[in-house]
Amino acid sequence: MGGLVLGLCLKKYAPDVDYDIYESAAELTEVGAGVGMSPRIWTIMQELGLEDELLTITGVQGQGGGAILRLVKGDEQELIDITQQNQLHTFHRSMLQQLLAKHLDAGDKIHFSKRLVSYSEPASTVDPIVLNFKDGTTATCDLVIGSDGVRSAVRRTMFSTFADEAEKNGKTEEASKLRAMVEPVWTGEVAYRGLTPASALSEDLVKFTSSLQIFVGKNRDAVIYPVSGGKIINVLGVVYTPGSGTVYDGPWVETSTSDEVGKLFDGWEPKVLAVLKSVGHPLCWAMHTTRKLPTYVKGRAALIGDAAHAMLPHQGAGVGQAFEDGYILATILSHSSVKLSNAAEALKIYDDVRRPFSQNVQQGSEDNAKRYQLRTDDWEDVTLEDSKAGQYDHAKLDVLAKEFMHQMQWSFDSSILGDRDQVEEKLRVLSV
Ligand SMILES: Cc1cc2nc3c(=O)[nH]c(=O)nc-3n(C[C@H](O)[C@H](O)[C@H](O)COP(=O)(O)OP(=O)(O)OC[C@H]3O[C@@H](n4cnc5c(N)ncnc54)[C@H](O)[C@@H]3O)c2cc1C
Repeated sequence: MGGLVLGLCLKKYAPDVDYDIYESAAELTEVGAGVGMSPRIWTIMQELGLEDELLTITGVQGQGGGAILRLVKGDEQELIDITQQNQLHTFHRSMLQQLLAKHLDAGDKIHFSKRLVSYSEPASTVDPIVLNFKDGTTATCDLVIGSDGVRSAVRRTMFSTFADEAEKNGKTEEASKLRAMVEPVWTGEVAYRGLTPASALSEDLVKFTSSLQIFVGKNRDAVIYPVSGGKIINVLGVVYTPGSGTVYDGPWVETSTSDEVGKLFDGWEPKVLAVLKSVGHPLCWAMHTTRKLPTYVKGRAALIGDAAHAMLPHQGAGVGQAFEDGYILATILSHSSVKLSNAAEALKIYDDVRRPFSQNVQQGSEDNAKRYQLRTDDWEDVTLEDSKAGQYDHAKLDVLAKEFMHQMQWSFDSSILGDRDQVEEKLRVLSV
């Protein structure tokens, strides 16, 4: 997703930048799931001229529409409303991907079945970077942008090189910290996600699933919202294992069953439980993040999206942050003062602007995980049984509402256009 939006932004803002996309899969595919888009991201879609087509996909009409987001306590027999936010656009992931790919219309610029293993950057600032693929072939480029997800091969090369350099300089402690940046970290959370056709639900449940709802509960949460104009319902249930380590023992993605989900969410409000169980074969997804990287760039290489800042899905912000990276990077590469000779310096501006912002969002998603799963804001001592039985001080729900609203404010109060202005300011002092 991040790579496609970077391509679209280059096409629009920096048409003289020639690019190739190397994709390990044999074709573009997406998991069966939904994705949310906040106003900051909607601005990028507007800038790219995609607004009308996107509104057609969601079935939402008119400017700025989007769904109301409700926060509800769901692990008791009756639902308890906590608070609500407004205006998020929700999409079927593969439909969004298809639309982006259609507009990119990259043709033979997308090279499929090309799994990057590593890259090597020469000491000179102008000689080409060499990309090494698993099939033994190579390619060259002036800049390499790692948009290769949470297990990024670009991040592996970048941080292994940083660590080797530190070791050479006798900084062994720093070297081991840098090497730790290569591997993703398990968050203790496993997500059960999938889509269910609205036609398979009772009339009552179709009505129930017609808005964007986040259900909180002890050590579990669930997110349910309609996509594709309400024809399909996105269903996500998340289970947190207290005291879990940072390494997941088992396949990261496997198919589960509705029975398993039913057992995990046993005792939840009947309608929520019924919707969670309505996905026949949900994908069971061990959720990993990247550590907070000390930089997203090295020389003429940069990381964007999950490769740089894979985060938990508890603000629905991962895709959006990848889009913001692509937008800002293209703004930089489109600038008349950026040349091959100062490209490394220009990428540092990308790092300066995007890293603090995206790492704040990454932290916010982790904080929201604790809120949704009642592991913070004075909920720590409430047991799973007491939470289900409604035996807790209900004033805690007000604290949760306040903290949640405070957390989500960034996505409504700030604009990506402000970040673009900041970049342009910094580009003025770039040495040419
Ligand atoms: C359960 C769950 C729910 C989520 N819900 C939301 C949500 O509601 N909203 C939201 O915004 N985000 C959500 N996210 C996060 C979101 O999916 C990611 O942030 C987003 O997909 C990141 O985009 P990306 O382009 O950086 O990486 P990816 O989407 O992971 O794309 C990486 C691409 O690189 C390719 N690739 C990988 N390795 C190589 C290699 N070595 N060589 C060549 N190609 C390679 C892959 O095949 C893939 O096409 C969710 C994540 C999870 C796990």
